[in-house]
Amino acid sequence: MTILDTNLTGVLGGKTAKALSKAFGINTVDDLLHHYPRRYAERGKLSDLASLRDGESVTVLAEIESVTVRAMRARRGSILEAIITDGKGRLSVTFFNQKWREREFRAGRSGLFSGEISDYRGKRQLAHPQCVLFPEGIDDDPEATAAFAGAIIPVYPASGTITSWQIQAAMRIVLDTLGEIDDPIPVGVLERHGLVDRATALRMIHRPESMDDVEAARERLKFEEAFCLQAILAQRRAEFSSMPATARESVGGPLLTDFDARLPFTLTDGQVSIGQEIFDDLAATHPMHRLVQGDVGSGKTLVALRAMLAVVDSGGQAALLAPTEVLAVQHHRSITRMLGELAQRGQLGGADHGTRVALLTGSQRTATRRKELLDVITGEAGIVVGTHALIQDSVEFRDLALVVVDEQHRFGVEQRAALAAKSRNGTRPHVLVMTATPIPRTIAMTVFGDLDISTLSELPAGRSPITTHVVPVSEKPTHAARVWERASEEVAHGHRVFIVCPRIGDDDDGGNLDAEESPLNSVIDLAERLQGLELSHVRVGTLHGRMSPEEKDDIMRRFADVNAVDGIDVLVSTTVIEVGVDVPDATLMVIMDADRFGISQLHQMRGRVGRGGLPGLCLLVTSSENGSPSRERLAAVASTIDGFELSQLDLELRREGDVLGAVQSGRRSSLRLLEVLRDEDVIARARADADEVIGEDPTLAAHPTLLSALARLTAEESTDYLEKA
Ligand code: ADP
Ligand code: MG
Repeated sequence: MTILDTNLTGVLGGKTAKALSKAFGINTVDDLLHHYPRRYAERGKLSDLASLRDGESVTVLAEIESVTVRAMRARRGSILEAIITDGKGRLSVTFFNQKWREREFRAGRSGLFSGEISDYRGKRQLAHPQCVLFPEGIDDDPEATAAFAGAIIPVYPASGTITSWQIQAAMRIVLDTLGEIDDPIPVGVLERHGLVDRATALRMIHRPESMDDVEAARERLKFEEAFCLQAILAQRRAEFSSMPATARESVGGPLLTDFDARLPFTLTDGQVSIGQEIFDDLAATHPMHRLVQGDVGSGKTLVALRAMLAVVDSGGQAALLAPTEVLAVQHHRSITRMLGELAQRGQLGGADHGTRVALLTGSQRTATRRKELLDVITGEAGIVVGTHALIQDSVEFRDLALVVVDEQHRFGVEQRAALAAKSRNGTRPHVLVMTATPIPRTIAMTVFGDLDISTLSELPAGRSPITTHVVPVSEKPTHAARVWERASEEVAHGHRVFIVCPRIGDDDDGGNLDAEESPLNSVIDLAERLQGLELSHVRVGTLHGRMSPEEKDDIMRRFADVNAVDGIDVLVSTTVIEVGVDVPDATLMVIMDADRFGISQLHQMRGRVGRGGLPGLCLLVTSSENGSPSRERLAAVASTIDGFELSQLDLELRREGDVLGAVQSGRRSSLRLLEVLRDEDVIARARADADEVIGEDPTLAAHPTLLSALARLTAEESTDYLEKA
C-alpha cells in the first residue's frame, strides 16, 4: 500500500471526501490525482459566453458588468442580479435573499461562476450559481486567494455539491503532501520518448505555470494510460503462450486436401496466408489465441472451417461456438452442406477419411442430444457446433484441439478460462476468434490486444455488388408501393427477400412512446398487411426473438429451401438475422425505419444479400427528414460498402466511452486522456514498449511500481465488469 491508496477522509476531512466520493466515485489519493481539469481558464482571458448551451453545466471566468438589487414583488426578500460578461456576450446571474453579496459584487471584478445555463424569458442566466471572485479584498478567504494567484486556473468537472475551486483546493493539499512517488513507466522508456516523470506530470496538469506544462503533462499521462493497458495485454499474451497445448501438425492431411480440391472457387490471397498463419500456430506446443477479422462476406467462416479440418486431420476435435441457437443451427447446416460426403462418415456414400458434424443446442430433444453427445465423447464427430453453453456445460470431448468462437462480444477472459477444463491432461485447446464486424486497427489493438490479429482485407473476386438506396417514404409515399413491387419481382425470379422491422409488434413496448411520431413498423403487423395486400401472391413468413428455438429453426429452414412445399419467399423479421445468416438466393434486403439502426448494424444486415453470385439490393426505408443526422447516417451507409470505413465512422459518432463499452465491457474507466480512435501512434508506440518490458520481465519482478499500477487497473476493470453484469 502506497500513499496513492490512502483514503481521502484522513487527508481532506470527511465533508470534502464524502462529496468527492458521491459526485465522482473518488475515494483515494490516486483517484483524485486522476481527476484531471477539463480545461484551463487563463487569467485575463474570459470564457466565451456565446458558446454555452442551455442545460449545460459550466464553470466560466467572467467579469461583473453591473449589479442591481430589488425587492421581490410577491414575497418578502430581495433579488440580486448581476450581469456578467466576457466583453461580448452576457449572462444574468441571480441570487435570492443574499443581500450580503452586495458587498463583494461590484462592477469590474472578475471570478469564476459555476452552475447550469438556463433560459429565463429569453434571457440566458445562471440561477444561483456557485461563485468565487478573484482576490481584491476577499482576504477572509485565504484559500481562494492562494488558489487564484497563478496565471492559469484549472477548471475541473464539478457538481452541485463540490465546485471546481474546492476540487482545486483539495488537489493542492494532496499534491503538497505527496512527496516523491515512483513511476510505473521504466526510465528507459521515458527517456526514449522524452516524457516527464509521473510526479512532475501530476503537478503540471493540476498546477501548471504555462500551457506548455499542460501539454507536456498530458502527453506523458496519455502515454501512461496506453502503456499500462498494453502491459496488461502483453502479460495476458505471455501467460497464454506459456501454457501447454498439444501441437496439431496437419500438413497435407486428407480431409483438408480433399475439401480444398472440391471447392468451387479459389481461395483469396488473404485466406491462403491467414490459413498458413493458423496452421503454424496449431503446430506449436502453446495455445493459439488468434482473432480473424474482415468485412462482411470476406470469407472468415471458410478460414475457420479449414482450420477445423486441419485439426480433425491431426486426430483432434474442433468446437464451433455461435452466439445464438439460430446461428449455431445455421453453421451446422452450412458446414454440413459445404463438406458434402466428407461429413458423412459411417454413412453410405460417406468418404472414408471424412468426419461427422455434431450439433448441440439447449432445445434439442433428449434422445437427439444423447446421440450427439455420444458422438462427441467417442470422437466420432470431429466438428461440434453449439452455442457458448457448450463450454460451460458438462459436454465431454474425446480430444478437443481447437475452439472457434464466432463473434467475440460475449467471449471474455472468464470463458477462455473455462476452456481449461475441456482439454486433456492440463493442456489448453487452441482458440480462434472470428469477429462479425470489421474493427478499426486501434480498437483491435486495445480491446483484443491480448490476441494475435489477422485481417482479411479483400473480398472474394467475382462478388456481386450490393447496391444500397435510401427510400424516404415521408417525402414520396409512392416509393413504398414501389418497394413491394420490387420485392414481388425478386420472388418471381425465384429469389428471397428479407424485410427487417425495429419492433416485433402489438404487445411489445412499442419502441416509441412519443405519440406525435408515426408508430414504428412491426414484424407482425407488416407481415399481416403484406400477406393480405401487396404480397398476397407470395409466401410471407415471420421471425423474431419471442419465437421458440424450434420455431425459429423451422422458419430459417423453410426460407433457405427454395423448393420446399412449405417454403417462404419473403421473411419479415427483427434483427435476429443481423449476424451471419447465409441464404445465397436472398437478393433483396428491405430495412424499415432504417434510421432506428446503427451504422454497423445496417452494414451487417445488408451483408445478408448478394452472397450467392446474384447482385444484392438493399433499401433503407425511412421517414426521417432530409438533412437530419439520422438521414446522413443512412446516406453514409448507402455511399460505401467498405465496412472498415463505416465502422470507423460509426465509432466516431459515438461517445468515446461507448466505443469500448460497445465492443466489450470494462476497459473504460482507466482511459481518461487517451482517445482510442485518434491516438493510434501513442497506442502503437506503447504496445511496442510494453511488449519489450514484459518480454524481458514477464512477472515484472524488477518493476514493482508498474506491477502495482497494473493491479490497481485490473481491480478497477473487474469492478466495472461486475457493475455491468
Ligand atoms: P464472412 O463470414 O466473412 O461474412 P463467409 O465465410 O460466410 O463470409 O463467406 C461468404 C460467402 O462467400 C459464402 O457463401 C462463402 O462460401 C463464399 N466464399 C468464401 N470464400 C470465397 C472465395 N475465396 N471465393 C468465392 N466465394 C467465397
Ligand atoms: Mg460468417
